[in-house]
Amino acid sequence: KQASRSFQSKDTIVDVDGVKVGGGHFMIAAGPCSVEDEDLMVETAIKLKAMGANMFRGGAFKPRTSPYSFQGLGKEGLRRLQVAKQETGLPIVSELMSADNLDMFVENVDLIQIGTRNMQNFSLLKELGKIDKPILLKRGLTATYEEWLMSAEYIMAGGNTNVILCERGIRTFETGTRNTLDLQAVPYLKSKTHLPIVIDPSHAAGIRDFVTPMSKAAIVSGADGLVIEAHPNPEKAWSDGQQTVSLETFESLVRASKPLLDLE
Ligand code: PEP
Ligand code: MN
Repeated sequence: KQASRSFQSKDTIVDVDGVKVGGGHFMIAAGPCSVEDEDLMVETAIKLKAMGANMFRGGAFKPRTSPYSFQGLGKEGLRRLQVAKQETGLPIVSELMSADNLDMFVENVDLIQIGTRNMQNFSLLKELGKIDKPILLKRGLTATYEEWLMSAEYIMAGGNTNVILCERGIRTFETGTRNTLDLQAVPYLKSKTHLPIVIDPSHAAGIRDFVTPMSKAAIVSGADGLVIEAHPNPEKAWSDGQQTVSLETFESLVRASKPLLDLE
């Protein structure tokens, strides 16, 4: 299998519009859960970059549990992300939910996120195999490592080997936090696959105060990067505010992370 260490022993380094991920290169994608007002997006991206983010994230098509919740700005959201990219040079990370929008994403997004709910949308994964854009493949809510790796195989089998795995917490019996962050995924997957693996502590915890400690733990576990929900005013965020850190907290998170990264 193409994702396995026995197929390729050397760590894959994925190039996301000039930002390398894996093999000792660390990504920090940060930004709000949903794309919001254009000025706010640009201002946030500028500040996050100055604080150490090397990619800007924001959802334009949102996989909301309730159909009555805000569903995202759609194509207009991708346009606003492009404006933020023009102002900062930061590569853009955004979630694709349907193959119908694939062309739009290839044009406007540098790292195409496949969310937890679509990890086993095999027809969508097959379409991703036909392009060469990097893919951020989030772990399914109840997926085993093997199932997750097989989803990566679906993309790679088509010819696209630019896959980054993202652990974002799984469903367990525990209800104190939104999900349970499985940090053992990092050493386990490092032994099984050459693909980079990054951690999203925001969706794992669902509680903003836990994002910094779990980010530090992720680095120590050997992860290749972080995906963090950050917003200038988390209480006012259009989605996932409860788990979104302020820019001040993001800055101190990065500062606390640096010495841990230098150890590697
Ligand atoms: C997100 O990144 O905003 C998101 C919806 O992620 P997940 O698919 O991990 O829930
Ligand atoms: Mn979110």
